[in-house]
Formats: sequence, structure tokens, C-alpha cells
Amino acid sequence: MKYQIYSLHNYRNIPQIDKLNEQDLRNIDVVGHVLPFKTNNYVVNELIDWDNFHEDPIFILNFPQKQMLHPEDFDNMSSVLDKQTDKVVLKKAANEIRHKLNPHPAGQAQNVPELNGQKLPGIQHKYDETMLFFPTQGQTCHAYCTFCFRWPQFTGMDDLKFAMNQVEYVIEYLKVHPEISDILITGGDPMVMKASILDAYITKILDADIPHLQNIRIGSKSLSFWPYRYLTDNDADDILRIFEKVTKAGKSLAFMAHFNHHRELETEAVSKAVERIRQTGAQIRTQSPILNHINADSNVWSTMWKKQVNMGMIPYYMFVARDTGAQEYFGVSLSRAWDIFRNAYINVSGISRTVRGPSMSCTPGKVRIIGVSQVRGEKVFVCEFIQGRNREWVGYPFFAKYDPKALWMDDLKPAFGEKEFFFEEDLARLLL
Ligand SMILES: *Cc1c(COP(=O)(O)O)cnc(C)c1O
Ligand code: SF4
Repeated sequence: MKYQIYSLHNYRNIPQIDKLNEQDLRNIDVVGHVLPFKTNNYVVNELIDWDNFHEDPIFILNFPQKQMLHPEDFDNMSSVLDKQTDKVVLKKAANEIRHKLNPHPAGQAQNVPELNGQKLPGIQHKYDETMLFFPTQGQTCHAYCTFCFRWPQFTGMDDLKFAMNQVEYVIEYLKVHPEISDILITGGDPMVMKASILDAYITKILDADIPHLQNIRIGSKSLSFWPYRYLTDNDADDILRIFEKVTKAGKSLAFMAHFNHHRELETEAVSKAVERIRQTGAQIRTQSPILNHINADSNVWSTMWKKQVNMGMIPYYMFVARDTGAQEYFGVSLSRAWDIFRNAYINVSGISRTVRGPSMSCTPGKVRIIGVSQVRGEKVFVCEFIQGRNREWVGYPFFAKYDPKALWMDDLKPAFGEKEFFFEEDLARLLL
């Protein structure tokens, strides 16, 4: 299958676009000038239900929605567009709006590690066992999610601060950090890379023969945005051979697949791609944020987890949408997220209950809402660290005041009249 990209400049060529009226198109144009927009022929032809596009989760996942901007920001951008086509002027107007959308949520900038006094911007090392690697060539995606928290990178607001291509530094860093068992290759989407480039990275890492490095993870949305990556792309077979090389070297290859809705699991292409990846000995684990207008429904989650297990994949995380970009449109309150998680969880068998959530990736770590409870008359959220900047925080239940409107960690206050959460003093010291 030939890969055809659609973006702001050519999306009106999409054959099904005549279902949209002038106002629909206008909304895409206005919001698409502020937030990233990219889709492709697989998403358009095989995933989206065009007869019901207004409510279609996959349409909303790829096409900019009017309500993703505040009404006044929408109107401003719209009037600039009416008067101007000058790129510089458009960009200035767009950037003013972007700056209001919390482009740099907490906890990312502080993770740039050093090796011999030199900063390594292509690496993040926040939790002892796992290092993230952002290869330069993997910093885009086969399509863009409208809710993406890496949106500043895709709008050209950030000049790929993370990106680094010197795999040698990665290897040196791994060698002097025996606590690292996992490398997570991420992006963007590393599976947009040519097989030859991915092969160069992986082969160098394997050849370095680092015994404490046990798991190579690849974070990717390609199974839902371009499963032909593993079927008909020129180098599809080469990709599968790289995966095999990893498993034959005695490392586990964990393919961390991003799926938001069971619809993404229903095409023949995705089921063949999953089968081919699994034949290499790789494991596929799945994750998704919980998103208003896309999957804020326990049936969607239980159906998705069951289908994933049926296809041989392992449900892993339900995330809470980060406090950036169009969070007001996509955000689901912690209370509702937990309710949806629980109602989905009780409707699947233990095989699917490998999934953990709802979890927030915030400055102190990954915090999961275990549930809502009542302790001596006070309604509370029971929380727990799944990952912590300090490993000692992990696994202790702690309590936050129940707040039905809270969307994110920053909205939570300690329960029982306490001044701060148990980890805060320690965290302040760690961030110095
Ligand atoms: C989630 C995450 C990891 C991986 O954590 P696991 O619990 O091992 O899946 C590593 N680094 C960062 C920054 C993360 O957010
Ligand atoms: S695939 Fe991931 S990085 Fe790419 S747009 Fe979607 S959420 Fe963002």
C-alpha cells in the first residue's frame, strides 16, 4: 500500500471530504494552523466512519476540532486567517495561542542526563531501570493525534531539543549505569525510521554486549496509523528481521503499542501486522490515554482490552491526558477516569487485568488513582506511585482530598488536613 500523507495543505483532496460542509472545513483550517494536523490514506479509508464523522472517535483523533481552542482564541486565529496569508503573521498569531496552552508541562526539562559533564539531550533517565532514547530520525509520526502532548515539537515550536543521533553516547551512558535494564526507543514514533537506520541503532546496542540491558522497548503508534509498515513497505521484512535479531540475542523486545480505540484493532492489516510482529518473538504491550470524545467509556476499554488479548497483546497502561494542549477538550476528571477504569476492569478476566491505571506521568513520577474511598468521614482518592523519582515511594498507598473536578496531580491536595504529601520534601531536594 502506498503511503499518502494528508495535512493542512492537501486534505481537501481526501475523497470523502465532500461529506464536510464549509463550516467543518473552516474549523479544520483555523485549528490546524495552531495545533499539528496530519493523517494518511489508511486512517482515512480504513478507520474513519465518514457517515458519522462528527462523533467518530478516529476522525476526532486525527482531525482538528473547533472546541480544541478557547472560543476567543479560535475567533482570533480565524480573523487573522481572513485578513492574512503571510506566513510570518500567521505563525506569530498561532504562537501567541500556543504559549497559552502550557507547551512544556512539568517534569520533562529536568531529565536531561550528563556523561562526563556533557549534556545528552536525546536521552531521558527519570526512573532507575529505564532509559528513554529519542533517535533524531524518529521524531515524527505516521499521523498526528489531536491530543498529543508532544504537539510543540510537531508545530516547530520546539526545535527537537530531545533529538540526538549519537548512539555511541547512549552506549557509553548505558555502560556506566548498571541499574538500567530497559532502553525505550521513542519519539515521535521510531517506526517511521527506515529499517536501515533502526538496524544501525539496534545492532550497535546489541554489539556493545551490555549484560544488564535486558529489555529493548519500542514505543509506537504505527500499528494503528500505518500497519502496512510491517506488511507492504519496501523494508517491511527488514524491520521484522531486526526484531528477530533482538530476541535471538537473548533480549526481550517489548513493542509498546499505542491504541486509543478498539476500532484500530479491527482491520485485516492490523491483525496481520500484529501476527507478523509476534512471530519475531517480540511481545506487544498496549497503552492509551483516556480521552473525552474518543474513549471516555468503559465499554470501549473493556472491548479494546479483550480484543488485544485475543490478538496476543498484553494490556499495560491507561494514562490520564497531560495538562497541555487541548486538555480542556480531551481531559477526563480523575474521578471519572477511575470510574471508567474500574467498570472496564470488572468486565474482563484476569488475563486482561495486567493493565494499570488511571496513571498520571507527572513531576514526581507515575501516580495511579487506586480508587475513591471514605476514611473516618472524609472522602479521599487513594493513590500510589507506579514509578517514582525516588524508588522508595513506589507502592505506598497515600491519600488526597476527593475533588470531583480534579484533572491532574496539581489539582490534588493532601487529605486529613495535612500540609503536604509524604514525598514533597524529598522531591524538592531531588529537583535542586
Ligand atoms: C513510563 C515511563 C517509563 C517506563 O516505566 P515502566 O513502569 O517501566 O513502564 C520510563 N521513563 C519515563 C519518563 C516514563 O514516563
Ligand atoms: S503517535 Fe504519539 S507522539 Fe505521535 S502524535 Fe500520537 S501521541 Fe503524539
